[in-house]
Amino acid sequence: MNYKIAVIPGDGIGPEIVREARKVLDAAAVKYGFTLEYTELLMGGASIDANGVPLTDETIETAKASDAVLMGSIGGDAKTSPWYRLEPSLRPEAGLLKLRKSLNLFANLRPAYLYEELKAACPLRDEIIGDGFDMLIMRELTGGLYFGARSTVEEDGVKKATDTLVYSEHEIRRIAVKGFDIARKRRKKVCSVDKANVLDSSRLWRSVVEEVAKEYPDVELSHMLVDNCAMQLVKDPGQFDVILTENMFGDILSDEASMVTGSIGMLSSASLNETKFGLYEPSHGSAPDIAGMDLANPIATILSAAMMLRYSLDLDEAADAIEAAVKQVLKDGYRTADIMSDGCTRVGCAEMGSLIRERIQ
Ligand code: NAD
Repeated sequence: MNYKIAVIPGDGIGPEIVREARKVLDAAAVKYGFTLEYTELLMGGASIDANGVPLTDETIETAKASDAVLMGSIGGDAKTSPWYRLEPSLRPEAGLLKLRKSLNLFANLRPAYLYEELKAACPLRDEIIGDGFDMLIMRELTGGLYFGARSTVEEDGVKKATDTLVYSEHEIRRIAVKGFDIARKRRKKVCSVDKANVLDSSRLWRSVVEEVAKEYPDVELSHMLVDNCAMQLVKDPGQFDVILTENMFGDILSDEASMVTGSIGMLSSASLNETKFGLYEPSHGSAPDIAGMDLANPIATILSAAMMLRYSLDLDEAADAIEAAVKQVLKDGYRTADIMSDGCTRVGCAEMGSLIRERIQ
């Protein structure tokens, strides 16, 4: 089977980390008998330099015509890069926001996984870490408080600001369906997080999630209030499989969950639409401070590529192999600078990619 992959290397360390992800994907393709046809696209600063805008219509069309998009990262140093002297709608990040919107990516997935070998980077105590944790935060990305009507008015000399949190049944149902589908590929547990003791939008959220759950009798559903969830993430993170939540709660909880894993260079992410299509990228930025120095950790991008195989292409076996290869490389004691610890062997970005590739072949 042949798949069309749009590749956006982006700026800063983007091209280096994407190169390593492609190396690993190609090894998985040979081993598991599929082919990937890549089309490289410009976005962010690289597109501003070439086309004067951070995203062209041609790029959007090519991305839409592909089976999935694999991205590095975009943007430069806001203090020194000429890209940030442009008006906001022409800056690198505007390209990414426009692409997400054009592709209707409403579901954001961020796994938080604790590697045995990187336990020392986890700020939690050993007895809390226990056997480790492996959760996935599924956040609604295009609705809720960040997209509702807002205003600031002045009445009798007093300023008053309003934001509105709106969710329709349709928006809740489509993210819930994604959450349950993805739980089926994992440990079959969904914890839906809301504030149903206070908010109407959360009460609707809860009832729609319960309705969707009826279609998934094999998946266990629980509900948790968001304030409790924030506590449970640092008290007993091992209890979670898929956390399903709305936009703002997910924004906050996914950062909290990623912090307890330790390193930014290890965190993958995906954004999906109603079909199997998705955009896969590391959670970190373009790290202009280390760009071109072979210092970047490519693992977040490599794990994002594994998610692409699993969620957009249904190549679970190949995805498993990539994840296992990452674990093995860590077990074998290889580390990039950001996750280096005593007794380990320090390697650069390209060597880390090669070591992971070898463990797939
Ligand atoms: P950043 O994530 O790029 O860097 C923060 C720190 O983490 C830096 O010290 C960096 O060297 C380090 N780091 C990040 N990724 C690493 C990796 N893979 N390996 C080793 N070290 C790594 O965040 P920032 O400095 O705030 O932002 C830099 C640029 O990235 C900005 O232009 C920002 O807008 C952009 N950005 C883009 C995205 C995206 O493309 N989705 C996301 C966040 C930030």
